[in-house]
Amino acid sequence: MGAVKYIFVTGGVTSSLGKGIISASLAKLLQARGYSVTIQKFDPYINVDPGTLNPYEHGECYVTNDGAETDLDLGHYERFLNIPTSQDNNVTTGRIYYNVIMKERRGDYLGKTVQVIPHITDEIKKNFYKLGESGDYDFIITEIGGCVGDIESLPFLEAVRQARIELGTSNFLNIHLTLIPFLQAAGELKTKPTQHSVKQLLENGIQPDILVCRSEQHLPQDIRKKLALFCNVQINSVIEALDAESIYDVPLLMRKEKLDERVLSKLKLPTKTQPDIDQWKEFLGRLKNPTNEVHIAVIGKYVELPDAYKSINESFVHGGAENECKVKVHHISSEIVSEENIKEYLEEMDGILVAPGFGERGIDGKLAAVKYARENNIPFFGICLGMQCAVVEFARNVIGLSGAASTEINPDTKYPVIDLMEDQKDIENMGGTMRLGAYACKIKKGTKAFNTYHKANIEERHRHRFEFNNKFLEKFEENGMIASGINPDRNLVEIVELKDHPWFVGSQFHPELKSTVLKPHPLFTGFVKAAIEYKKNKNKE
Ligand code: GLN
Repeated sequence: MGAVKYIFVTGGVTSSLGKGIISASLAKLLQARGYSVTIQKFDPYINVDPGTLNPYEHGECYVTNDGAETDLDLGHYERFLNIPTSQDNNVTTGRIYYNVIMKERRGDYLGKTVQVIPHITDEIKKNFYKLGESGDYDFIITEIGGCVGDIESLPFLEAVRQARIELGTSNFLNIHLTLIPFLQAAGELKTKPTQHSVKQLLENGIQPDILVCRSEQHLPQDIRKKLALFCNVQINSVIEALDAESIYDVPLLMRKEKLDERVLSKLKLPTKTQPDIDQWKEFLGRLKNPTNEVHIAVIGKYVELPDAYKSINESFVHGGAENECKVKVHHISSEIVSEENIKEYLEEMDGILVAPGFGERGIDGKLAAVKYARENNIPFFGICLGMQCAVVEFARNVIGLSGAASTEINPDTKYPVIDLMEDQKDIENMGGTMRLGAYACKIKKGTKAFNTYHKANIEERHRHRFEFNNKFLEKFEENGMIASGINPDRNLVEIVELKDHPWFVGSQFHPELKSTVLKPHPLFTGFVKAAIEYKKNKNKE
C-alpha cells in the first residue's frame, strides 16, 4: 500500500468516552476492507506498566502473549481485531522516562542536557513508529490516553504534533473524540465543551481532521454545521457516536456515519469498495436473538468496578452468543458470602465462576462458593486464584487435609497444596516478575478439558506466582480431582477438573485473555453450554 498510515486518536472534554472502542471499531472497518491494522495505546502515567496497579485504579491488567502487563484497552483491540498485541502496543510515560534515563546513565546523550523536548518526545516518537517499521501493518492507530488539557499528556501531544510534520499530511490523521452534552433544562445539545477542547488541541499545535462526538441524542445538521465552523473541520468529518446498546454495535454505527470512508479519503486511499463485515453481523445476530438465558455468578473481590473483570465479562458475551444464549452475569463480592449464607446467593445460579485475584481478602467466600458448586453439581469454572481455591477446597473437604492452603494465604500451612513457584522464591521487585504470558499446555485425552478444546496442544496466557504443588498430585487424583492439562516443559499443573461432576474446571491460566468475537474461547463456550444443560435439568425436576 506504500507508506504506513498513522492515525492518532485524542480525547477531550472528559475521560471515559470510549477512545478504545472507537479506535477498535475504526480498526475493524479498515481490517474489513482488507488492510492490516494494529492499535497501540500511550498512557500518560508514571507507572512503567499497569502491572502494579490495583484494579480499582484502571480496571483489569491485560496480559499479552509476550507477557506484557498492559492497559485493558488492548483487550478490546484483540477482541475486535482477532489479532494478538504485544508489549509494543502499550507504552506509558513511565516506560518512556525509564528508557531515556537508562540511555542517559549509559552516556548515550554524549554530555547533552537531557530535556522533555527533544529527548522525551524523540523517545515517544520512536515508540509511535516502532510497530509501523515492522512492515506488518498498513495502518497504525495510536490512542493517546487521558484528556487534552491534562498536564501529563503534554509531551505525547507535542510528539503527535511533530509526527504530523515528519509523516506528512497524507500519512497522518488526528481524530478527536469529544462529548456533546444534552442539557435537559435547556432541551439542547451543547457544542461549547467541544469547541474548548479543540482550542486546547490547537494550542498544542494539532488541528483535528475528524471529530467523533459522543452524544446521547442524534446530532442535527445545524449542530454539525456549528461544530464544523468553530472547530475548523469539514462538515462530513463531524461524526456522531451515539450511546450503543453493546460495544459490538459501534463498528456498524461508525460505518453508518462513514468514519472509515472519511479516514480513507483524507489519507488519499480508495473508498469505493465496501468493508466485509458479514461475520461480525452474524455474531451480532446471535448476540441479539438469544434462544436461551442463564445466570452466572462471578465471585471476586473487585465487584464494584465491572472493568476489573472486563475480559471475563466480554468472554461471556462471546461464549453466550456462540450458544445463542444470553448470559446474565451477577458479580458477587467474595467478602460478603460465607458457608452460612452462600445458598441465598447461589441457589438460583446456573453456573459459578471464581475469579482471579491476589491476597487473603475474600478467600473464605471463594472457598464457600467452590464448595457449593462442587456439592450441588453446579457448573464451576475457577480462573487462576479461582482454580487455586478449587484445589484448596478439595484438599480440605474431600481429601481431608485440614488447614490445607495456598502459601500465599498461609505460609505456615501443614499442607501447602498451592505453593510459590521455585523461580519466584528470590524475587524482590513486584513489577513484571510474575509468570507472565503464553505458555504451552498439553491436555489429556478423554478429559472435560479435551472435550472442550477438541485438541491436545494449546497455549494460554498466565499471570501468577503460585502453582499447584505436585507433591500432592497423587492424593488429588486418587480422590477424583485430576490434572487434565500440564505444562510440558516444567510439569506444572495448568488445568484441574473433577471426574464426578457435570462441569467443574479450574485453569491456572487466564482463558478470558484470548476470547474474541470471531473466536470465542472454548472454555467459556463450554462453561455456558454446561450452564444451559444444568438449567434444563433443573427445570425438569
Ligand atoms: N495470587 C495468585 C498467584 O499469584 C493468583 C493470581 C491470579 O489470580 N492472577 O498465583
